[in-house]
Amino acid sequence: MNQPIPYGRQHITDEDIAAVAEVLRGPFLTQGPHIAAFEAAFAQYIGCRYAVALANGTAALHLSCLALGVTEGTRVITTPITFSASANCVRYCGGEVFFADIDPETALLDVNAVRALLEQHPKGYFAGIIPVDFAGYPVDMAAFRELADEFGLWLLEDSCHAPGASFVDQNGIEHRCGDGSLAELAIFSFHPVKHIAAGEGGMITTNDEALYNHLLRLRTHGITNKPGDFTAPYDNEPERGGWYMQLQELGYNYRLTDMQAALGTSQLKRVDAMMARRQAIAQRYDEAFANSPLSIIVPPKGVSHAYHLYIIQVDDRKELYDFLRARNIMAQVHYIPVHLMPYYQQFGWKPGDFPNAEHYYARCLSLPMFPTLTDDEQDYVIASVKEFVGA
Ligand SMILES: *Cc1c(COP(=O)(O)O)cnc(C)c1O
Repeated sequence: MNQPIPYGRQHITDEDIAAVAEVLRGPFLTQGPHIAAFEAAFAQYIGCRYAVALANGTAALHLSCLALGVTEGTRVITTPITFSASANCVRYCGGEVFFADIDPETALLDVNAVRALLEQHPKGYFAGIIPVDFAGYPVDMAAFRELADEFGLWLLEDSCHAPGASFVDQNGIEHRCGDGSLAELAIFSFHPVKHIAAGEGGMITTNDEALYNHLLRLRTHGITNKPGDFTAPYDNEPERGGWYMQLQELGYNYRLTDMQAALGTSQLKRVDAMMARRQAIAQRYDEAFANSPLSIIVPPKGVSHAYHLYIIQVDDRKELYDFLRARNIMAQVHYIPVHLMPYYQQFGWKPGDFPNAEHYYARCLSLPMFPTLTDDEQDYVIASVKEFVGA
């Protein structure tokens, strides 16, 4: 292949470009009608009541932590195998990050490891859990809900990899990631490498009206202009006019622009076809690697995986990474365990703390996975991997 094949790539159509150009010709560049339209379309797709569009997924994590009450010393548990933003959001609010190991069968946060950690401390020691639908594999949020209820915790689902993914619970009920039925809040990202590209962008989904209203205020500095929400010293404002508004708490400017919302809405129209294509690519990889020395994670029946990433696990991972790069295949590693990052090691986390996560990291490699990957390109990737492992 002459052109490098990346591990992920956005797809922009003429329709997407026209949608953005139309906004540029109109009166609103930010917080216009496209924000509400994007939020409504996304909420409908996910199957939740409320959606709040934000500047990026990291801002969505930050505001979620604030709305859930994370503050100085609040203890929150997450997985070491994720993008570090899943943990950093707790630190933005002054909270303490705890990790628990992953389940090697899924590479997701292990609900039993979390239970073991919870049982080592008195009730009330931890405030919440941030499970991550890593690679697009939906976390068994029903199991986490049960655990959270037992210990009085909230759940914030990092669904950046999994818009549209779903699983069927023990009672046969299907849950889409972020549909508001199990976790208090869920967050998504519209970074170009994710399922829906808006340049930058994020979304929080919820069924909780009070959290929703709080998030809207936090998105715009902590200011409200709704008279029904005013608090004292409203009574002291002698001549309240149409200009009157209140800064009620310290919020942020985490708004999305109308250009980005229009791009996101336009992309959302193709989301089912893009998901079908990702799943078809995954199935082709699964079949090609079924009888090889590689380890792959194949979800059981009832689990609809969104395949943000297609990950193989292999000994000699570094050699395979270099081998593929030399062939213009830009495989990538997701992720270096968060607890091994120098920033987190200062809190005492160290190598050996989470053996499953560290073993997974030593062997993982993400192969090209994006809807416009051609069959020829995929065949070339498969043949190159097979050549390396001698299969
Ligand atoms: C991409 C990503 C984020 C952050 O989203 P941004 O939009 O890049 O800020 C958070 N968590 C996970 C798991 C991600 O993949």
